[in-house]
Amino acid sequence: RVAVLGAPGVGKTAIIRQFLFSDYPERHRPTDGPCLYRPAVLLDGAVYDLSISDGDSAGPGPGTQGSEEGPDSKGWSLQDTDAFVLVYDICSPDSFDYVKALRQRIAETRPAGAPEAPILVVGNKRDRQRLRFGPRRALAALVRRGWRCGYLECSAKYNWHVLRLFRELLRCALVRARPA
Ligand code: GDP
Repeated sequence: RVAVLGAPGVGKTAIIRQFLFSDYPERHRPTDGPCLYRPAVLLDGAVYDLSISDGDSAGPGPGTQGSEEGPDSKGWSLQDTDAFVLVYDICSPDSFDYVKALRQRIAETRPAGAPEAPILVVGNKRDRQRLRFGPRRALAALVRRGWRCGYLECSAKYNWHVLRLFRELLRCALVRARPA
C-alpha cells in the first residue's frame, strides 16, 4: 500500500499516470476525490500486487481536521500505509512546507512499535528547474539527514526518474518488510 500525497497541483496524478500508463495529458480531468489504483508490478523478477492511492486535492491537507482517516477514506489509513511518496513542486516553497507538515503527521500517527514505513520525498517538475525556489543540495540534505527520508527529483512531464522513484521506494519497503 503506497500513498502518494502532497499539495494540490504538484503532479501526483501525473506521476502515477506516467508510471502506470506512460501517459501525460497536459490537462487531465480532476479526480473526484482520492483515487485508488491496483497494478501488479514486476520488480527484480517477482510480481507484487500494489495499491497506490492518489491523495489528490481531496486528500489530507496537513491542517485538515479529522484527516487521520486519509490518505484514502475508501482505502486505508495513514497508519496502515506501507510506503509514502510525498510530492512537492520544486518551484513552490509552499508545497515543500506542505510535505514537511505531512511527514510530521505521519510520524505522529504511527502507532508505537509499528514498523517504520519508508518515506520518499519527491521534487517534481524538474523540467522547470530554472524556477526552483531553493538549492537542490540543501533540500536533499535536509530531507535525508534531518528528516531521515529518501529524496529524489523527477519530471512527470518528461517521464524522468518516475520509474526510478517507484523502484527505489518498493525496494526500500520490501527490505523493511522482510523478517530479521
Ligand atoms: P495533483 O493535483 O498533485 O495530482 O497534480 P496534477 O497531476 O493534476 O498536475 C497539476 C499540473 O501540473 C497539471 O497541469 C500538470 O500538467 C502539471 N505537471 C505535472 N507534472 C509536471 C511536470 O513534471 N512538469 C511540469 N512542467 N508540469 C507538470
